[in-house]
Amino acid sequence: MRVCLVDDNATLGGQIWRGLQANSARNHPLGRYFLHWTERLKRTRCDIFTGWQAIGQPAPHLLRIERAGEFQDLRFHKLILATGARERFLPFPGWTLPGVIGAGGLQAFVKAGLDAQGKRVVVAGTGPLLLAVAAGLRDAGVSMIGVYEQAPLSQLLRFGFTLARHPGKLAEGIRYRRKLGGVPYRTSCWVVRAEGCGQIERVVVTDGHREWTHDCDWLACGFHLVPNLELPRLLGCNIADGYVAVDSLQQTSVVDIACVGELTGIGGIEKAMLEGEIAGWAAAGDKVKALASARKLKRLHEFAQRLERAFALRDELRALPAADTVVCRCEDVPHAALSECGSWREAKLHTRCGMGPCQGRICGSAAEYLFGWKCSGVRPPVYPAEASAIAARVDSSESG
Ligand SMILES: Cc1cc2nc3c(=O)[nH]c(=O)nc-3n(C[C@H](O)[C@H](O)[C@H](O)COP(=O)(O)OP(=O)(O)OC[C@H]3O[C@@H](n4cnc5c(N)ncnc54)[C@H](O)[C@@H]3O)c2cc1C
Repeated sequence: MRVCLVDDNATLGGQIWRGLQANSARNHPLGRYFLHWTERLKRTRCDIFTGWQAIGQPAPHLLRIERAGEFQDLRFHKLILATGARERFLPFPGWTLPGVIGAGGLQAFVKAGLDAQGKRVVVAGTGPLLLAVAAGLRDAGVSMIGVYEQAPLSQLLRFGFTLARHPGKLAEGIRYRRKLGGVPYRTSCWVVRAEGCGQIERVVVTDGHREWTHDCDWLACGFHLVPNLELPRLLGCNIADGYVAVDSLQQTSVVDIACVGELTGIGGIEKAMLEGEIAGWAAAGDKVKALASARKLKRLHEFAQRLERAFALRDELRALPAADTVVCRCEDVPHAALSECGSWREAKLHTRCGMGPCQGRICGSAAEYLFGWKCSGVRPPVYPAEASAIAARVDSSESG
């Protein structure tokens, strides 16, 4: 089949293999898979568009992609969406200070070459990503002060016992803990505020009973992951329980559109790769191979569900923002203004919450958690794009 791969990153590989090259992959824990797949890809005649973002569907079976004002319309028979996930951020006093950075965001900066040597870092929030980030930052030479996980130990232990069925993940967890030897890892703890004059200088942490302070240069903070549902939503795919609903061949409710990876459940690379394989076979019309691979998925779906339960957010986090804590950073909307609204729509109309350049990607998931709203509206373009690319009619520039 004629295959085309679009990724808005400058290089292929998604979140996990971000920035890897053939030589650096040799030292990466999952590097051999990266080498295997990049070699396989090289042998195909796949058209690759890196640095391009999919922004919408101007007509059925036509995906519009954009890069710095240039655009192309890609006509497809089958579309497989794998837009991944992003971190969830929850607001607390001081979270907008420079130096308070998403845990995965800081990881990405460091992978891209940011000098972290000697920086004093606190890692906080929830999810397995915290350990991966803390271990990576330690490799990069930071002075790691502590890792604070909001989930209770009992929940994590229950989760840990089930990892016997996932030896690869267990080994990964042990590897991270080893790298963090001597660094305090505390459960049932969370940051209540960040303080500093124009820049983070310290964080205040609590275990729900008492508070204490750490001086630091960076706070790497994130509350697990949320799927990037904007594109599937725009294309009309049904969403169930927060993820794209798919059948055993990864097919969505929209004919000829499949979804894989974090879009169907936050479950990590193994699940994402297997679902990609299933959707690939199915798109190529080989149902037998697709179903054979699909049989291996059950275990990975169970893992995703356990992950979600283990790192469920505690109620106390809803009480963190003060009246003047900004929730929507694009439009500077404080918590007090949102508390007067009854829904996401009302909040958008009255306060402009979620109407800025990020289009609610950050404040939307926070508002869902803080107020219990459904923040589901999405309009084209799914990313900010040049007006010419948004307004252009479907014409002869479309690719076959
Ligand atoms: C910040 C962050 C850090 C992570 N770090 C780790 C880690 O260290 N270890 C670990 O095991 N797991 C990590 N994960 C989890 C990891 O992302 C997944 O397990 C795995 O990468 C899922 O694969 P995927 O294909 O679903 O998504 P991804 O690997 O995220 O790939 C999705 C790709 O789609 C691109 N994209 C999204 N929207 C568009 C669009 N509209 N147009 C064009 N391209 C688009 C993205 O830029 C990305 O390159 C991390 C997740 C996040 C969000």
